[in-house]
Amino acid sequence: MKTSAPDTHDDLRDALRSLCAAFPPEYHRRHGAEGTYPVEFIDALTEAGWMAAMIPEAFGGSGLGLTEASIVMEEINRAGGNAGHCHGQMYNMGTLLRHGSDAQKERYLPCIASGKLRLQSMAVTEPTTGTDTTKLKTTAVRKGDTYVVNGQKVWISRVQHSDLMILLARTTPLAEVARKSDGLSVFLLELDGLIGRGMEVKPIANMVGHETNELFFDDLEIPADTLIGEEGKGFRYILDGLNAERTLIAAECIGDGYWFIDRAVAYAGEREVFGRPIGQNQGVQFPLARAFTNIEAANLMRFEACRRFDAMEPAGAQANMAKLLAADASWEAANACMQTFGGFGFAQDYDIERKFRETRLYQVAPISTNLILSYVAEHVLGLPRSF
Ligand SMILES: Cc1cc2nc3c(=O)[nH]c(=O)nc-3n(C[C@H](O)[C@H](O)[C@H](O)COP(=O)(O)OP(=O)(O)OC[C@H]3O[C@@H](n4cnc5c(N)ncnc54)[C@H](O)[C@@H]3O)c2cc1C
Repeated sequence: MKTSAPDTHDDLRDALRSLCAAFPPEYHRRHGAEGTYPVEFIDALTEAGWMAAMIPEAFGGSGLGLTEASIVMEEINRAGGNAGHCHGQMYNMGTLLRHGSDAQKERYLPCIASGKLRLQSMAVTEPTTGTDTTKLKTTAVRKGDTYVVNGQKVWISRVQHSDLMILLARTTPLAEVARKSDGLSVFLLELDGLIGRGMEVKPIANMVGHETNELFFDDLEIPADTLIGEEGKGFRYILDGLNAERTLIAAECIGDGYWFIDRAVAYAGEREVFGRPIGQNQGVQFPLARAFTNIEAANLMRFEACRRFDAMEPAGAQANMAKLLAADASWEAANACMQTFGGFGFAQDYDIERKFRETRLYQVAPISTNLILSYVAEHVLGLPRSF
């Protein structure tokens, strides 16, 4: 199905489609059901260079932008997979590339590009403060050549399949800063050896078989040169990563949306009830037509968010709006597809129920629908702050 968005990436899409075709639905279904990590699939993406898409050529990467990275994510989901297993490497790159020191880039980027290291994790969310990020309680206190970290994080994904993790912690107490977003700092941690030396990882069993964890920090000492950029300015740095993350998730939702529509249209054309294909009934057609229309519209906003991010223009509004529109459209498509399949939508062998659960996540993470609406109301429409 040809989409309306301006897109000149046929070669990129063809390459991804051929890689993804080697991992049929049964592969993703098995990992989804068993809650295991699709190691072979991520290895194949790494070997083909896609996990290094956004790393500049000078450091051994492909030097592509968020636009291309988002197409990689979209194609994985469109092929029936789940890019949630690897999207962290793409959006975390925004923080390191834009705010890391030359020494940090030289040390890590070539290794990430070659696949020797993975930067798949970002630890922001905390159990007691949730979306109210500036109130987070994890602290990093300078002590000589180190920082000492104490606190707790929750829902931190891919820690067990990453070598590096971005950590957001408070370095100046909230009571001592002029603005609540000041005094937070970003660190780039090498995870090897930290477990049992002040950091504990506790996996969280969950609805989508996602590798995600609780983290506990108890006097964890990390070298001071793990700090990214200036101390206390971390919230601003992490926003670049968050805008990239929202745009990539939008692309994944678009991929899911097209997957649901493709499957539903094919099934509606072949399933005969009352002596005719069910897709001949407008009651079946209209929900699919409406969901498809909304996916197409969301896709335009996704490419605008990518364009702005790649042009180094402010992209917060478009990244948030793209994520909202795309998550709603994929959820609408998921429901329309489930309804079209009737009882068979619930059978695991059709993959609809798995993808239905996977795409539902994006109403909540990485930012919930209400919080995006609140961002648009306050930052785009100029309405008074509600919190
Ligand atoms: C599978 C999974 C993977 C994740 N991976 C990561 C990760 O790798 N790293 C990371 O840092 N985090 C991760 N997260 C966390 C995710 O970003 C948060 O769950 C999400 O931002 C919502 O935060 P919360 O769960 O604390 O909800 P809360 O902030 O507790 O909010 C709960 C509900 O209340 C609503 N709400 C809260 N305040 C308001 C308000 N003022 N007005 C209206 N509605 C409001 C929210 O919209 C939401 O629906 C992950 C989560 C999941 C489920």
